[in-house]
Amino acid sequence: MAPLDELLAPEDGDIDLAQAPVQSGASAERVPGGPWPLPPNVRVIGVANQKGGVGKTTSTVNLAVALAQHGARVLVVDLDPQGNTSTAFSVEHREGTPSIYDVLVHGRPLSEVAAPVDGVPGLYCAPATIDLAGAEIELVSRVARETRLAKAIAVVAADYDYVFVDCPPSLGLLTVNALVAAREVLIPIQCEFYALEGLSQLLRNIELVRAHLNPDLHVSTILLTMFDARTRLAEQVAEEVRNHFGPVVLTEPIPRSVRISEAPGYGQSVMTYDPASRGARAYAQAAYELAGRPATGEGASS
Ligand code: ADP
Ligand code: MG
Repeated sequence: MAPLDELLAPEDGDIDLAQAPVQSGASAERVPGGPWPLPPNVRVIGVANQKGGVGKTTSTVNLAVALAQHGARVLVVDLDPQGNTSTAFSVEHREGTPSIYDVLVHGRPLSEVAAPVDGVPGLYCAPATIDLAGAEIELVSRVARETRLAKAIAVVAADYDYVFVDCPPSLGLLTVNALVAAREVLIPIQCEFYALEGLSQLLRNIELVRAHLNPDLHVSTILLTMFDARTRLAEQVAEEVRNHFGPVVLTEPIPRSVRISEAPGYGQSVMTYDPASRGARAYAQAAYELAGRPATGEGASS
């Protein structure tokens, strides 16, 4: 527990810490500037948890920006019809905009819908429009309905170092497409009561996809989100998750932070909105840790 205590104990909000980024940021000091190591092959990472509001989108957005800021070519696939990722990136996603819906349902190439994210060189987003809401049903009758995203990503894989797929809060066909396309699953877990509820169902689905469709799939990363160091509950949840999942849990939990929740309102990630804030530094640390981990290697599967 010592490193966690060190990281989290002295601080309380994140806003005033923007003024004192260096000495209070035990974590920030471990994140080098400049380019980070790149994976030899593209890492396709599905960000999944069928609970809504646990930080899937927030984590996808900020990890992707952090990696791109340190030299990686990153594609983010927004697979949630709500299009929150597209909003956070300020990427056009009005109904009818070329989007991931066209890729999944009409076989349109990903390269035609991926849009560059303003202000973050190397970062692209395949937006989701509300059209995607119908895709679960439209896909049912299509051939190879589970592998459509995987095939689309395979075509552009060489253009990227990381592809993140931000899943909707369900375990339907869209999430299955993400799990078939990905090699790694990143599960954000909110440090709240009920955090672990439903997790076994997600793990079972991952296991099913692995057994039948994608033998390389594994849970490579668990990220604790909305961590409030002031509550015992957050500590307890974190400890329980660490005991259960072991080393796939990233060292740095993401603190609950007003800055993080404000950023999407400005069409930004917290990495660009307030890079000195505690939330941004925590995501930078998490991204750095993610980048330093072997892309292959078994994670937890149950
Ligand atoms: P999901 O994609 O799993 O549904 P989101 O990433 O959209 O979850 O997060 C749900 C809500 O919580 C959003 O309003 C988001 O801004 C907010 N949020 C996410 N992470 C944090 C955090 N670390 N601190 C404060 N608010 C957060
Ligand atoms: Mg989301």
